[in-house]
Amino acid sequence: MNEHPIGDFHVHTIFSGHAFSTLQEVISAARERGLAYLAITDHGPARTDGPKLDYFKNLNRQDTLRQLPGIRVLLGVEANITDTWGNLDMPEKLLHELDIVIAGFHNSTGYGGSSVSENTQALIKAIEKNRVTVIAHIGDPRFPYPVDLEESIAAAAEKGVLVEINQSALHTWKTANVAHYERVLELLVKYHAPILMNSDSHISYSVGIMTECERLLVAHGIDPSSTINYSEEQIKRYMLRPE
Ligand SMILES: [Zn+2]
Ligand SMILES: [Zn+2]
Repeated sequence: MNEHPIGDFHVHTIFSGHAFSTLQEVISAARERGLAYLAITDHGPARTDGPKLDYFKNLNRQDTLRQLPGIRVLLGVEANITDTWGNLDMPEKLLHELDIVIAGFHNSTGYGGSSVSENTQALIKAIEKNRVTVIAHIGDPRFPYPVDLEESIAAAAEKGVLVEINQSALHTWKTANVAHYERVLELLVKYHAPILMNSDSHISYSVGIMTECERLLVAHGIDPSSTINYSEEQIKRYMLRPE
């Protein structure tokens, strides 16, 4: 049994525009923290400050990154849901070629849903029609796109799409988010979904740190070591494609 998380599957680099560390810095920090798995997931191109589509096409060709010794680096994206039909800001082919696809709502992406039911349907359609591994910060009150949490989490659990507990939301945006993620956690338990913690790190110093997520889990009687992040077996099952 590992004594700390060995995987972090939601991390940004300077390519996201509002993040502060390079790819090298992020990978070094992950190694120092003892991570065996790290996903690079910069914002999709619909965000005004996100990298262009060409960045992701080229990222996908960087097999040297996928073959670094001592750490398995997954090359991915935090894609944006851009309309109420659940479309993402990336061609389907590339979504299938990247190692991991996180998807969610963000500001400044052109998304125009204006009600809980519209947002919920957009989210559910997004996971039904696209290859999505993880839903990012579901319904997070930082963004003006609330969803019906129960309907969304039930749909994700049914489809085998993971719903993250987001450390950045709990740490940086503390007061607004604890109750929200408590509800998310309760619903994940209710629908027997595996629990994934993500740092959503925007600077190398926070890569692999999940302390606020762990605090939330412990308060709900859940052992953090039961999460995907601590278990090579669960990581292989839920986060990696079959060989
Ligand atoms: Zn995000
Ligand atoms: Zn993010």
